[in-house]
Amino acid sequence: MFYKTIDFSRYSSIKVGQPTEVLMIEKGDEIPSDRMIIGGANNLLVSPTPPPLMMLSKDFDEILIDKDQLIIGCATPTGKILSFAKKNDIARFEFVSKLPGTLGGMVAMNAGVKSYEIFNILEAIEINGEWIPKEQIEYGYRFAKLNGVATRVRFSIQKGFDKGLLEELINLRSNQPKTPSAGSAFKNPKGDYAGRLIEAVGLKGVSQGGMQWSEVHANFLVNNGGGTFAEAKYLIDLAKERVFEAFGVELEEEIKVV
Ligand SMILES: Cc1cc2nc3c(=O)[nH]c(=O)nc-3n(C[C@H](O)[C@H](O)[C@H](O)COP(=O)(O)OP(=O)(O)OC[C@H]3O[C@@H](n4cnc5c(N)ncnc54)[C@H](O)[C@@H]3O)c2cc1C
Repeated sequence: MFYKTIDFSRYSSIKVGQPTEVLMIEKGDEIPSDRMIIGGANNLLVSPTPPPLMMLSKDFDEILIDKDQLIIGCATPTGKILSFAKKNDIARFEFVSKLPGTLGGMVAMNAGVKSYEIFNILEAIEINGEWIPKEQIEYGYRFAKLNGVATRVRFSIQKGFDKGLLEELINLRSNQPKTPSAGSAFKNPKGDYAGRLIEAVGLKGVSQGGMQWSEVHANFLVNNGGGTFAEAKYLIDLAKERVFEAFGVELEEEIKVV
């Protein structure tokens, strides 16, 4: 293992944070239990005082075919997984397109689009060195209880990459802001949409310093340049407060504030 200084104002997708020392885990290392694991920081809002952080090194960026199974390391970026599936005519990974991050972040978030979620297609996750079958893991909408660091994920291979589905899913993304963000700020409450609620309380397009509730999609907290953690947190708390007052709905962050 080794330390690396990561500047979260550049590395994180929302471009908020500061240079921070992160412990890089290599193959064979014992994984510390007193640090928070991060992946590509596409779902993170990093505070000025984050907990001690760690990240999987390139050792975990690998895709292996073992007979009828696919074993993918958790530092593997989603873009690489998509290209691999396309090149090898493997089905069911089409939805990872435009879903930025690493496989580790995907499984921890049970990331997905519409009815396509990573837990629908995986069979087992290697957590802290032990393969755990999916059936033994608690998971749901944008949530999975991993109780440790995911290092590899196993899938069964089904043939037939669906280019039509890929195109359909890419088109779905056309309403998303191009400005830096961490994706959806809040989970959708049951039977409703966080974006609709934020818009209904008049916050769509509202900004604080460099941060703004996007004019394109109200549930995207975007950084128009130089946005800070305090500004982001202010807008998040404001949306929670306003939505609760107006609708009695407690919005739950999808973004991980660390
Ligand atoms: C423009 C944009 C669009 C997006 N659209 C979607 C979408 O449609 N659907 C969707 O679901 N998400 C979406 N996201 C969010 C993001 O793509 C996913 O949450 C992604 O899975 C995050 O991966 P990451 O590697 O960046 O994880 P990070 O942001 O670094 O971490 C996210 C969480 O995963 C945990 N984690 C990371 N690696 C591991 C590991 N190896 N073991 C255990 N826990 C780990 C972290 O502790 C943290 O809690 C979007 C983000 C952006 C910026």
